[in-house]
Formats: sequence, structure tokens, C-alpha cells
Amino acid sequence: MANPLRISFEGAARTVTGSRHWIRWGERSWLFDCGLYQGHRDEAERINRTFRFDPGAIDAVVVSHAHLDHIGNLPTLGAQGFGGPIHGTAPTMDLARVMLPDSAFLMERDLHHVNRRTGGQPPRKPLYTMADVESTLARMRCTEYHRPWSLAEGVTVEAFDAGHILGSALTVFEFKENDRSFRLGMSGDLGRPKRPILRDPERHAGVDVLVLESTYGDRLHPDEETTERGLVEIVQRTAQRGGKLLVPAFAVGRTQELVATLHRLTTEGRLPQLPMFVDSPLASRATQVFRAHPEVFDAETAKCFAETDGEPFGFRRLKYVSTPDESRALNDRAGPMIVIAASGMCEGGRILHHLIHGLGDAKNTVLFVGFQGEGTLGRRLRDGADSVRILGETVRVRAEIAGLDGFSAHADQRELSDWAAALEPAPKRIFLVHGEPGPAETLAAILKSRIGCPVEIPFLHQEFALWN
Ligand SMILES: [Zn+2]
Repeated sequence: MANPLRISFEGAARTVTGSRHWIRWGERSWLFDCGLYQGHRDEAERINRTFRFDPGAIDAVVVSHAHLDHIGNLPTLGAQGFGGPIHGTAPTMDLARVMLPDSAFLMERDLHHVNRRTGGQPPRKPLYTMADVESTLARMRCTEYHRPWSLAEGVTVEAFDAGHILGSALTVFEFKENDRSFRLGMSGDLGRPKRPILRDPERHAGVDVLVLESTYGDRLHPDEETTERGLVEIVQRTAQRGGKLLVPAFAVGRTQELVATLHRLTTEGRLPQLPMFVDSPLASRATQVFRAHPEVFDAETAKCFAETDGEPFGFRRLKYVSTPDESRALNDRAGPMIVIAASGMCEGGRILHHLIHGLGDAKNTVLFVGFQGEGTLGRRLRDGADSVRILGETVRVRAEIAGLDGFSAHADQRELSDWAAALEPAPKRIFLVHGEPGPAETLAAILKSRIGCPVEIPFLHQEFALWN
């Protein structure tokens, strides 16, 4: 066969961050996702700057959704020679237009802090600049769900709603040669049924090879009622102490879901009326993108949105904080209050300043509502560290550390396995990515017995021939 189809896993292999998958067919070469690797600063720096392929030889990039661990390294790819189009759904592209400039801004600002404390070391340079972001944004092309489009001769791509964040897509590549065809499914991040705002994940027709995420391959999420009860207890406990509830949250997706849930629980009288702040200019801008795309909301949110003029993202009790002065004022303000700020794994953003000011006070609570990757500050806090380093400062941890997994935007073990097992016809081979080894191995065993096909957990840079 003249054109073997190959895939190599250039990121999110046995880890949950830095998604990059390199697909080659004959002379042509594409990337699926080009995410930022988030973790220890030096290691992340090296991984994000290094491509095992020539970025200039990549024809195009297709992206699954706008989280930074899926799109956040696109400007580096561009800075190193990639000049092709970047394809994703319209909400994904609109979110990228707020996420990527914010990412460049935060890199420069955090480096500014770090470079003040280098002790004579040469100053570090940011991974990319606003100019790199601008040229990346100029190459974005919008796709639509259920509208197959041609990526190259003999290759069509179709997107389906992944139910993970606004605009998130399950992507099916179909390769045709002579009278034969081959379907490759890339799950990106798989969402969950019955989540606020978003539609349930769709199920597309079967694929020959499925590349599936496995973040929560070894865990079941608590049900909605348990999660909400947990949230109510944490809010009440913190309010009774007069403390601040600090919630590190991805500015896109989790923040809007959390706001929608807090809104509903307060309206139902289950939560006390507390001052609430979303301290993230990015979250405010992302919320504007949510408001601009009611066509992808689930029926309940679409109805609420239509009837209440843009609720539930901007309800009366909530204030979106934009300026640094307003943000600093929150540090001095006494509790009780709720502050939601990015980033979700505490790897940057305004949450760092709230943690520096708030971690030392036993009245306060830090509530984690998302997955905390290995090596991140969020993981160290969630694992019970007595003290942590933040922006070069050592900070004692006296605040309560709490976690609620039920807010996850990722399918759990049963949801992943139910989704994959219902594909018709069944996949002939599955690769598990975007999961640490434990969860991926547990899920692999389940899928092998349920579906009966080989399930592999690729190593970083491992390459496979898919179709000959
Ligand atoms: Zn995601």
C-alpha cells in the first residue's frame, strides 16, 4: 500500500496534559490538538518548546476544544514554522480568541514575578508572545457539528458534540483510497450526560480505531445530589467561620457551570446569600462567548437564557471582577464570601494571589472542583502539603482544603466505557490517552472485556501504523 496511515502520540500519553497527536498519511501530515503541557515549570518549558516533527511540515491542525491543554501550544507551533490552517467549531474558535491572548499575557506576567527572584540567573523568556498569538488566531477556520468537510483529497472530517465544554467536539476522520475507507475517531475530552449548560455527549457511528481519553478511567463520579449536598456543606461551614471560599476553576466551562449551580442553589434557598466574585477577566470574556452561542446550549439552559435575559451567567449576586485593583481589594475584604478564580490547577492566574493571602487563615477553604494533574500546585495542595511555594514565596497552609469531583467535565469510568461500548460497529482497536497510567490501565481492562478489541496505552512519541 502506497499510503500507510500512522499516528504518533506526541502529548497526553500516560498523562492528562499537553494533548498533541500527529497523524500522517503518505506525504500529508496533520496534528490533532496542540495543547500546553502544564506541570513543573522547567519540565513544562522543555516539553512545550520541543516538537519531534518539523512544525513547518504540518499541513493543518484540527482541535477538539478550547481548553489550554488542547490548544495552548498552538502559538509555539506557529513560532516554529507552522503556517497552515487550524480547524475547530465556531464556539471553540471564539473561546480560543480569548484563551490564547490571556495565556500569553499570563506567561509574561508570571515570568515578570519569577525573573525578579532569579538570584543572578539570566531572565527567562516567555514561551510565546502576543504576536505569535495574533498570527495563530489569523489562521483559524470554523467548522460545524454534523457538517463533514474535506481536510485533503480523500480525507473528510466530521465533528460531533462532546458535551465537555462549549464547542467541544468528538472528531471522526474518514480516509478513502480506491474502494476502501478507514475511520479514525478522536474523542478529545469526553463530557458527561446531564451537566448544566451543555448538551449530552453525542455518539457517532462506529470507527475502526478509537483514540479515547481516560482521565477518570478508575473512578466513578458521585451523583449530582451528593455533589450539591457537599457544596452546600462546604459553603455553609466556611460562611459560619466567616472565611473565604476560594475556588480555583478553569475560566472556561467549570466557572460557568459552577456559577449556574450556585445561582440555582441560592435561588432554591439551599445556600445563604453570600457575596460572590468571579475574579477572572478571562472568565468574564469567556462568559460573553457562552452568551453568544445559545445554539449549543442544552434545552434547559437555552430556555432559562431566553426567559431571563442572559441569566444564569450574570445573576445579581455575582460580580465579575476585571481590574487588578478590584482583585487586590478582594484580598483585603473580610469574609464570608466566595471567590472563583483561574487557573483550575493553580498553575497561574489570579488564584495564586488569593492563595498567597488566604492559605494561611484557618477560617478559609480552598475548594477544588476539577482534576489536579501531577506536579501542579493544585495537586500538592489537594495532597495535603503543609506549605507550598507560590510565585517564589513560601506559604503555610492552614486553610481547609476540600474537593468535589462531581463537577468534573470529564466522563467517569462508567460513562467512558458505556460511551465506547455503544459505538456501532465496535472499534477494532482502542488507544487510551489523556490519563495517568493507573486510570488508563483500569479502563483498558474494562474495555478489553466489554468490547473485545485490543486496547493500548501509548507511551510518549510511540508511533503506530493504523491502516495499510
Ligand atoms: Zn478539556
